[in-house]
Amino acid sequence: MADMTIKLLNYGYFEKKMLSELAVGVSSEFEAEVKIVEGYLDLNAYFDAVRKQYNGNQILRYIDSHDAADYQKLVGLFNVDLFIPILTYIFGQAYLGGKSAIASGYRLTNERYGLTKNEALFHARFLKEVNHELGHCFGLIHCHNPGCVMQSSTYVEDIDQKSPHLCGNCRNLFHEGNR
Ligand SMILES: [Zn+2]
Ligand SMILES: [Zn+2]
Repeated sequence: MADMTIKLLNYGYFEKKMLSELAVGVSSEFEAEVKIVEGYLDLNAYFDAVRKQYNGNQILRYIDSHDAADYQKLVGLFNVDLFIPILTYIFGQAYLGGKSAIASGYRLTNERYGLTKNEALFHARFLKEVNHELGHCFGLIHCHNPGCVMQSSTYVEDIDQKSPHLCGNCRNLFHEGNR
């Protein structure tokens, strides 16, 4: 996409190296320029004391309140446990066809599941999650093609089953919808 800029807003204190890897993966997938911006947000306001998790709907609304030209997409990157009322947890969410998305690394590390730390695997999962949510921002819905990043994922194992890429069909839809 000529002139498309995607901003990755770092609210998760993720390190530079990981963010620049992420930016490369996002940039090539969506043919866009990617900018990394440090974000500061007091997440206490979004904490649900009963669930002991953070309200994804409210955080997404906050991200969407940022000014952005219509050629920009915004992805808030977090490292806390996100939920929406109808689900136990979410890896991320997005406004379908909108400008904003959020993604969290909280449930994407091996350590979370009692397994050996694997930095490369964590980075790969996070890229898939960010690409998935951005796909929604670009108007793509869930896809059943094996390996497509737009497959829905309930468990981290589902994320491991897919690639970080759009399938041919989703790529065509992406191009048609965002010319
Ligand atoms: Zn989805
Ligand atoms: Zn697909």
